[in-house]
Amino acid sequence: MVSPWLYTSPSNMTYEARNAVTLNGVHPSLRYKLIQLLDLLRLNGEDVLLYEGFRTIDQQNADWQVGRDIDGRVIGTTITDAKGGYSFHNYGLAVDFAPVGPLGVPLSKRNMLEWSAKARYEAIARLAQTLGLEWGGTWPKPDKPHLQYADGLSITAVRSGKRPDAEKAKAGLTAYYRNRITNAKRGLKHADADRTKELDAFIVDLQTKLNAL
Ligand SMILES: [Zn+2]
Repeated sequence: MVSPWLYTSPSNMTYEARNAVTLNGVHPSLRYKLIQLLDLLRLNGEDVLLYEGFRTIDQQNADWQVGRDIDGRVIGTTITDAKGGYSFHNYGLAVDFAPVGPLGVPLSKRNMLEWSAKARYEAIARLAQTLGLEWGGTWPKPDKPHLQYADGLSITAVRSGKRPDAEKAKAGLTAYYRNRITNAKRGLKHADADRTKELDAFIVDLQTKLNAL
C-alpha cells in the first residue's frame, strides 16, 4: 500500500543515500540480508528504494491512529493494524521497499516510483524469500512493500528480547561474496582482454565489500 511517509523524507536524497540510512537503522541480521538482496537485485537489472526500516513505538502508534477515532474505531483508510511494539519495524527487523527507475536518478514521486509495477514487486519478493525474508504480500491483508526477517521468531519472542542471529546472517553474506569471487576468477580463464579488465575490477569490488563486513 502507498506509504504516506514516502514523500515526507528529505527529497534531495538519492535513493541510494536513503537506502544507506535505512540500512544503518535496522538490526544487523536484517542488514546483512538486505545487502545481499540489493546485490542480487542489481545483478538482475532491478533496484529498490528501502523507504522505511526502523520505526519508533511512538511513530507506530501514530500510524495505527491513522484512519481510526480516539476509541480505536475504524473511520477511514488505515495503514497498519499493529500498535506500538507489535510491528517488526519497531525492532529494526522489517523494511518497506518500492521498485525504482534507472540507477542514480534522484528520489522523486514523478520519475522514480512505479507503484503499479505488480510484476516487479513479485520478482523482488521472490528473491527476498530465497534469502529467508518474509514478504507482506503473502498475508491475508497484503502489504506488498513489506519485508521482514524474523528467522522463525514470533513477535512475542521478539518483544521478550529475542533476535535473529546476526552472525548467521553475516556468514551467509560472506559465503555469497566468496562464491561470486570464485565464479569471477573462473571466468578469467576464458576471458579476452576487455573481459579480464572488467572481471578484475569486479573482483576488487567484491573483495572490498567482503573486507568491509
Ligand atoms: Zn512494513
